[in-house]
Amino acid sequence: MVPLYGCWGRILEVDLSKKRETVRSVEEGLLRKLLGGVGIAAKIILEEVPADADPLGPENVLVVGTGPFQGTAIPGSGKWIVAAKSPLTGIWGDSCGGGDFAPDLKGTGFDAIVVKGKADSPVYIWVNEGEVQIRDASSIWGKSTSETIEAVKSDLGDKAVKVVCIGPAGEKLVRFACISSGFGFAGRTGLGAVMGSKNLKAIAVRGTKRVDVAEPDKLAERSRELSRRLYENSLEGMRKYGTMLGMQAGQHDDRGYGLKHNWDGGVFEEISKINEERVREITVGEVPCSNCPVACHRHTRVTEPEKYAYDGHGPEYETVAMLGWLTMIADIKAVGYMGHLCNEYGIDTISTGSMIAFTMECYEKGWIDETRLGGVKPVWGDADSAIELIHMIASRRDFGEVLANGIRSAAEFIGRGAKEIIVECKGLDYPAHDPRSYYPTAINYATGVRGACHQRGVTAWVPGGFNIPEWGVLVPNREDRYTMKNAAHIAAKCQDWASFSNSLVQCEFMFWSGLTFRDQVELLNLVTGWGLDAEAVAEISERITTLQRLINVRFGVRRKDDYLSPKMFKPQPSGASAGKVPQPFEEALLEYYRLRGWDENGIPTKEKLESLGLTQEAGYLPNP
Ligand code: SF4
Repeated sequence: MVPLYGCWGRILEVDLSKKRETVRSVEEGLLRKLLGGVGIAAKIILEEVPADADPLGPENVLVVGTGPFQGTAIPGSGKWIVAAKSPLTGIWGDSCGGGDFAPDLKGTGFDAIVVKGKADSPVYIWVNEGEVQIRDASSIWGKSTSETIEAVKSDLGDKAVKVVCIGPAGEKLVRFACISSGFGFAGRTGLGAVMGSKNLKAIAVRGTKRVDVAEPDKLAERSRELSRRLYENSLEGMRKYGTMLGMQAGQHDDRGYGLKHNWDGGVFEEISKINEERVREITVGEVPCSNCPVACHRHTRVTEPEKYAYDGHGPEYETVAMLGWLTMIADIKAVGYMGHLCNEYGIDTISTGSMIAFTMECYEKGWIDETRLGGVKPVWGDADSAIELIHMIASRRDFGEVLANGIRSAAEFIGRGAKEIIVECKGLDYPAHDPRSYYPTAINYATGVRGACHQRGVTAWVPGGFNIPEWGVLVPNREDRYTMKNAAHIAAKCQDWASFSNSLVQCEFMFWSGLTFRDQVELLNLVTGWGLDAEAVAEISERITTLQRLINVRFGVRRKDDYLSPKMFKPQPSGASAGKVPQPFEEALLEYYRLRGWDENGIPTKEKLESLGLTQEAGYLPNP
């Protein structure tokens, strides 16, 4: 028998309705096709979630998984993924979290945990070196994320146990609730609500087993070298600034992002009040995920004014940009506190910021008033009303009941012109990267597997220096940022790279300290012994992206769902990208379909699926 390297080939399935655990095996052939992480999760979601499944029903399936890099010393391997049908978008949902959970999850002897059904009452799952228990969580229900992690450790009498959990927002089924491992959040697509719908408060693991790898000595040496290189490169970069690196000089000044006033854009005169230097002023330390030489997470503390006082984690770039820049709240202490509240409630800061800015614009336009908002007057730049909105959303109080269902649902409820001012695709709010500043991002957002996303297609990073020369993704000169020529190719390759990284599973931010695609391929070969080259990895990566698209097609996605928000066709009045709009959009979208081997309705063809080795999966195509 061929030895299996990098993975156990074992997945734990926990059925909360039947209170039963089973173990299933994964053959090496499937791992070679899909690697692990989101690749294997996609196969499970395709085959086990019914097309008409209610994302918050017991028929939805939650996959918490690892890839071939977990359990090794590879830098950036302290990550885990979660996937399910998203309650926010109704399509494929996934997210990648960090913290200290991943090595122990892999160390249990399972590559992933698949959760099915629904418990009768609040529970948490405890996997101790391969032994599984479903334990009562009634006394923990209602607690914040940080309280929950401490409560689970205390219940198990072991501070070293690793935990991921939901906060009160996940329990209340807020459709953009996230999953926390303490400081590494799986934020996007609302999978915290899927846990809540299953009465699953937390998953705790302890695992010390280590998988075999093909070349242990070479892998250890290479991991050490890379860790040293990444650490040194990060000293004046991400280790110093976290993900805030380059916010003002890059995203605002050079790229001309137009987040101000809910994406109406233009220069934000107060950007210096919430920029990277301001975050440094409230930072008391860097916090790394496991196996990370970069340590992008921040430990921050605010002591005054008292109303914004907190001691916690973040804020990340996305948090500052979405809760501050988008809403014009130019106060880093307030923004830090807002991020902290989101973390403790367990809600995604990107969608929350988007929802607050949308509410401010609706209020400004007179489409909602304070009587519907419990007396709150959400005006631009007002942190205190924004904080009230966070409380309302997370607890579904007053108008929070409407906002907690996501941006599309809220716009539908408010009516008037609300649908014209939301900035999302497939229900997932845009992150803080502007397609008007680099046109391939428009195609990426329109076609992204989980909706509009900068991390399931990293196009927005390309003008800042991200590149994959082996796949023809190169840093453009300034004028070439504003052309649809080649946009389809760049979007497709940036999406495929994200599929690759999230199947390995490796932190995408390693790139910013000098990790290259070539390094990733080399590391994969040292782990697995598969001897892959860039071309073979390109095929695997495209296969994973295409499989996720097939899932979305099964959930009803078609060309009509691959759109750009109306605001993106409105030029900004000022800034580096003033006057620019990503056109011709439709032609570039059709070019993207052609490149992908999808038909004009955005459906992968049977021939394309077969050419990618997805012959069996092609059976899930809709009838012509
Ligand atoms: S760069 Fe940041 S998110 Fe990535 S592994 Fe390191 S600490 Fe975690």
